[in-house]
Amino acid sequence: MLQITTPEQDQALHLLQTVFGYPAFRSQQGQIVDHVVKGGDALVLMPTGGGKSLCYQIPALIRHGVGVVVSPLIALMQDQVDALAEVGVRAAFLNSTQSFDEAMRIERMMREGELDMVYIAPERLMTQRCLELLSVTPLALFAIDEAHCVSQWGHDFRPEYIKLSVLHERFPDVPRIALTATADQQTRDEIIHRLQLENAMQFVSSFDRPNIRYQIVEKANGRKQLLDFINAQHSGDAGIVYCLSRKKVEETAEFLNENGITALPYHAGMEQSERYRNQARFLREDGIVMTATIAFGMGIDKPDVRFVAHLDLPKSIEGYYQETGRAGRDGASANAWMAYGLQDVVQQRRMIDESEANETFKRVQGVKLDAMLGLCETLNCRRVHILDYFGQSSQPCDNCDTCLSPPSSFDGTVAAQKILSTIYRVDQRFAAGHVIDVIRGIDTERVKQWRHDQLSTYGIGSDKSEAEWRAMLRQMIALGLVSVDYENYSSLKLTEDSRAVLRGETSIQLRQYKKAEKAVKHKRQSAKDFSEANLSDSEQVIFERLRWWRVETAKAHNTAAFIIFHDTTLREIAKAKPRSLDDLRGVTGVGAKKLESYGEELVKLIAEFL
Ligand code: ADP
Ligand code: ZN
Repeated sequence: MLQITTPEQDQALHLLQTVFGYPAFRSQQGQIVDHVVKGGDALVLMPTGGGKSLCYQIPALIRHGVGVVVSPLIALMQDQVDALAEVGVRAAFLNSTQSFDEAMRIERMMREGELDMVYIAPERLMTQRCLELLSVTPLALFAIDEAHCVSQWGHDFRPEYIKLSVLHERFPDVPRIALTATADQQTRDEIIHRLQLENAMQFVSSFDRPNIRYQIVEKANGRKQLLDFINAQHSGDAGIVYCLSRKKVEETAEFLNENGITALPYHAGMEQSERYRNQARFLREDGIVMTATIAFGMGIDKPDVRFVAHLDLPKSIEGYYQETGRAGRDGASANAWMAYGLQDVVQQRRMIDESEANETFKRVQGVKLDAMLGLCETLNCRRVHILDYFGQSSQPCDNCDTCLSPPSSFDGTVAAQKILSTIYRVDQRFAAGHVIDVIRGIDTERVKQWRHDQLSTYGIGSDKSEAEWRAMLRQMIALGLVSVDYENYSSLKLTEDSRAVLRGETSIQLRQYKKAEKAVKHKRQSAKDFSEANLSDSEQVIFERLRWWRVETAKAHNTAAFIIFHDTTLREIAKAKPRSLDDLRGVTGVGAKKLESYGEELVKLIAEFL
């Protein structure tokens, strides 16, 4: 088929190849670039790692004037600017971290049109001084990054974002492109409404992240399981471990360090300087594990995070997806691993119950938590389940735990009845531990004290382990068949729905309990291979040498290793073994500027191996 392209499209592709070193646009990037180059407004919804940056960077290069990027992520601006400088784009930032003189210099360059792109923090942008500066600056476009920050209901809400509608009023002819990785319709509507993007073209990409493998395991001893998981599949890799509390963050980091894994803590209770230091080390050094609360992560652009682990249950599928999405931005295989158990369900329910929020908010939180539990307990493909939640239909993925080793279900009606009638017989006044002791016929002090060994259900479940009963109970709580009374020692109560089960009017299916398996060593083994060229032993040696070269080079340039080249690019070089600059030019991620900066060195380095 004959493809007719416009000169602007040719130019966009040319820039993609020569500046950024990528052979082709991904998914909708080409259309988005085209639309914005022509002056149209756009709303771009793309998953993390989808490639949002190029959607405004290339139009900023093509259109006359400076592209203004609004971003709340001050701490990352330096890296973003460095990365652009590496490919030869003239970029700078304006935020509170720089000196007055430096800001003056940048402002002058803007007015003179000597910059392609400038990153500005939203609170800075809204100042009178900055708005005046913009009115005398030739403007190519406004890119509003992390646009979901306008949403008052989201957890990243930034009040300054709401004022960004000023841009449209003051500069009606400058195209605006708003970008976010948050998928839900409510947030999308809020962005359109608050930023006055009613006439913007919407580009909604698939939210699938095929290179991420989802895995949710039964929690036994979470930390130990985490350690086994890292040792088996991710030794030497960078990763993020999410925990619910600050205390657990600290303890987990300590535990990992004691066990030979370099881990750093990050949470909102730490000194800001220490948080920055840990974040910088995580970004710049290879193979650091960050243990963190959800305070960590927005805009973390590190492309080679190989795993995200959850030691506690996230509050919603949105949260889970956003956090796990920080893995594998470079497109190579990555793992999203979570351990969860009865305690998580109880804890999350309690947090909702005890929060000060109004009833509507609590109800919404409850519904979100139920959806998250549904994902944990599903017998079907995790990915299908997640995408369905975001309104996209898909096929079983072959890259999640339930696809790779399908769980079985069983008719749990009788077991559920045992649990329910025990709860009833102990007068709905005891917590899970005691109820399970009674079912299993354990003669503890408390059992004796309350004479619960006299109950007809005492010992009727001695055939199953405590863990199995816990797993069943957890599912029943998730299904709303049992409730937990937090004000009274977390005692278990029957619900409306449990009566029908007790009377035998409904039957229920439960997920077959699987004993936590010892994680098996299968580093990089994956059902599907994602972009990691399979390296032979000799190529692996070259790759290691290239990584070493990259560490040295990054140090010399005082920048992060991934800003020099991504792993994917180094792997390709190791495989291609270029003998000349021309050979090197074809490698993904090697644009003209990088070829000029590093080409000779790399060709010489490769020659040593030939
Ligand atoms: P997002 O902001 O959507 O999370 P980025 O813009 O940071 O994603 O891009 C994610 C990664 O994908 C980056 O490493 C980027 O260099 C790479 N990338 C983006 N577009 C392309 C493309 N067309 N071809 C190859 N790699 C790309
Ligand atoms: Zn699957």
